[in-house]
Amino acid sequence: MGVEAFYAAATHTLFTLVGLCVGSFLNVAAYRLPLGLRLSKPSSHCPQCKRRLAWRDLIPLLSYIFLGGKCRYCGKRIPFRYFFVELINGMLWLACSLTLYESNGIAAALIFALTLSTLLCMAICDAEHMMIPDSLQVSLLLFALAGAFLAPTPAWTQRLYGAMLGGGFFLFFYFLSPVLFGREGLGLADVKLMAIAGIFLGAASTALAIVIGTVSALAGVCMREAARAGQRRLPLFDGDKEFAFAPGLILGIVTAAVYSEQIWSAYRSMFAGF
Ligand SMILES: [Zn+2]
Repeated sequence: MGVEAFYAAATHTLFTLVGLCVGSFLNVAAYRLPLGLRLSKPSSHCPQCKRRLAWRDLIPLLSYIFLGGKCRYCGKRIPFRYFFVELINGMLWLACSLTLYESNGIAAALIFALTLSTLLCMAICDAEHMMIPDSLQVSLLLFALAGAFLAPTPAWTQRLYGAMLGGGFFLFFYFLSPVLFGREGLGLADVKLMAIAGIFLGAASTALAIVIGTVSALAGVCMREAARAGQRRLPLFDGDKEFAFAPGLILGIVTAAVYSEQIWSAYRSMFAGF
């Protein structure tokens, strides 16, 4: 194995391991931030029996497997979501390293991975608590600005238009939905999220993110209504009260960020014959 191949393999491994640990941290953040609790203190403990968890209870993926998904001290079930978020986040970080490390450098891969992790944490907070903490919005904004400094495209003007488009579109519906439906359909958090997404996506991808995100969110509403009609709960999250819009929007943002060029060129080729 050449030196470069060795560095690449080491980077991919490191990204995966850090991604798993960040995933573990996201679980803590998604639990504590919406409740207004501090991230640093108290140290990790079981919410049921309040026992402090030792380092061997906090190893991503492995602790969950070896404990059989139960608290070591009181036997209370640990939600599967904890395992799932660690796994997904580790895979996202590996994907960032595989696709961006060699072409765009380690800083770009790191910023994109941190952006995806923040979006994942936002999706969980919104799905479970119907809110997105402002600290996550600020983190996302900082990562978006850092990404804008690293990547020459889209240009700053396009990013500005993206922010205006994403924020403006949902601000319009934020004010419109009480008039149309007599109730709040969107939160201001969705408006902020889409404005920040516009900065790292640029205008063209933001337009895609709006379409894909809105369709996904509405599909989520239909699925939930169907599940409710059948007296069943959706897996992973118990959707009782209102419907969280942000997870669908975030799916749209990520899809647009990754596949924007392919989607636009497929769109253009549809009309190439005319
Ligand atoms: Zn316990």
